[in-house]
Amino acid sequence: MTFVVAAVIAVLLLGAWFAWACVWPYSTFFRPVLMRGPADGKRVTLTFDDGPSEQFTAQVLDILREQGVPATFFVCGRNVEARPDLLRRIVAEGHAVGNHTYSHPFVCFKSQRRIAEEIDRTQTIIEGVTGARPCVFRPPYGARWFGLVPTLLERGMRMVLWSAAGYDWKKGAAGITRAALRGLKPGAVILLHDGRETRPPTEVDRSPTVQALPAIIEGARQRGYTFAPLRDFLPAA
Ligand SMILES: [Zn+2]
Repeated sequence: MTFVVAAVIAVLLLGAWFAWACVWPYSTFFRPVLMRGPADGKRVTLTFDDGPSEQFTAQVLDILREQGVPATFFVCGRNVEARPDLLRRIVAEGHAVGNHTYSHPFVCFKSQRRIAEEIDRTQTIIEGVTGARPCVFRPPYGARWFGLVPTLLERGMRMVLWSAAGYDWKKGAAGITRAALRGLKPGAVILLHDGRETRPPTEVDRSPTVQALPAIIEGARQRGYTFAPLRDFLPAA
């Protein structure tokens, strides 16, 4: 009986540790990781995950161009293969590109080899389109695992999570705007999505994000924030 109780407690503790260290986006158990930039000055940075996407990346780019705001796009290799032209436009318009794996797997419990394959395949695809290999990586779902950190360190890549989320996977435009603005602090890294995590032809509707974006930019500026490129938040190499 005592053994059963001890086993149940051990399983619960292990589960709690896993949820905190590997899944909760604000845990720093796996390091190095950037969640927020320097707190000096009122600078924030925008990031978009899961693109490029057929319908929504161009709309996001139009708004960013109109507003003169730089951003970082954490793209999936599979989506780049489908729309390399959109990745070329991202770079041509002065935005940065990050690696978000090839097929958007949940990295927990994956081998280091499997994680490395996802990263390397995407680095090669991005380099083939843009001529450069990204130095930043964001894990799908913000999940982290043991093989991930050494893989990134070997490649001189930095893991970037976020400190302000628009929760655009579940909220409408007004809710996205409120959530993103609520998370603003000096150095905030804002998480939004311009693409889909699932295999085509399943398309995720990102129109709430597109609708929210001008209001997020305007709201941040009204609060005295300026938009900086992510590279300004990274320690000098
Ligand atoms: Zn993602």
